[in-house]
Amino acid sequence: MSHIQVDGLSAEIDGTPILDGIDFNIPRGQFVGLVGPNGSGKSTLLRAIYRVFKPWAGRVVIDDEDVWRLAAKEAALKTAVVAQERMGEFDFSVAELVLMGRTPHKGLFDSDNAEDHAIVDRCLERVHMTEMRERSFLSLSGGEKQRVLLARALAQQARFLVLDEPTNHLDIRHQLDLLRQVRGLGVTALAALHDLNLAARYCDRIVMISQGSIVADGTPDEVLTNERIARVYGVGARRIPDPDGVPQIAFYPLDEALTSEVVA
Ligand code: ADP
Ligand code: MG
Repeated sequence: MSHIQVDGLSAEIDGTPILDGIDFNIPRGQFVGLVGPNGSGKSTLLRAIYRVFKPWAGRVVIDDEDVWRLAAKEAALKTAVVAQERMGEFDFSVAELVLMGRTPHKGLFDSDNAEDHAIVDRCLERVHMTEMRERSFLSLSGGEKQRVLLARALAQQARFLVLDEPTNHLDIRHQLDLLRQVRGLGVTALAALHDLNLAARYCDRIVMISQGSIVADGTPDEVLTNERIARVYGVGARRIPDPDGVPQIAFYPLDEALTSEVVA
């Protein structure tokens, strides 16, 4: 399990500021949900953390090492990613793709061994994709692809898992299943999530961003207040009683006059 520290992270694209002085920590083993409206900078922040988009200021420190000072392979041993990055033009079978999760553990001339194949089998089983192991990845549905990408990340056996909207395309059962699994792994995890109710149910902590800045960081109960959701998302929000004691929210549209009043 890793300890993550993000210090003063700022980023811009073509001169436009996208992230402005982002600071937060993830203690070992915590599962943090990153929430915020479309375009608030969630993916950019995650990409800076998993080392594909270089921030212009600030640091991302994993277990006392600045990720932007590590070699790509060393960084891959520390962080596994489930994201919507392009998968390239090549088609692979499901099992081949999951096996790629083992790459950072290998030297240039090492071939895949029995342990690698056993790990692949286990990871496919965990995401209920064993039957589809010989299928072409490109032929899968969005939800099946998402589960295969999780299996590849699990096969990597990193101590920090980053996920960008991992529940996209998944039906409700698979959404719950995926987040329960991430929680059950016991690794440190950071996931951008759209669904505030899922975030409240599964995350230890929620970091909410808006327009490139953190607006709240705390437990689901602390962060997901009706007022804050109204201000940040421009929608009406009403906390509803939940027998499990998890904060759950019903949403409703605000009329235009009220929206401008709340957003102002
Ligand atoms: P989120 O994941 O929260 O929806 P993003 O991090 O994808 O937000 O985007 C944050 C902002 O950065 C948006 O305004 C988006 O338009 C802008 N942005 C992201 N990628 C690019 C890019 N490659 N070129 C220009 N603007 C970009
Ligand atoms: Mg995004």
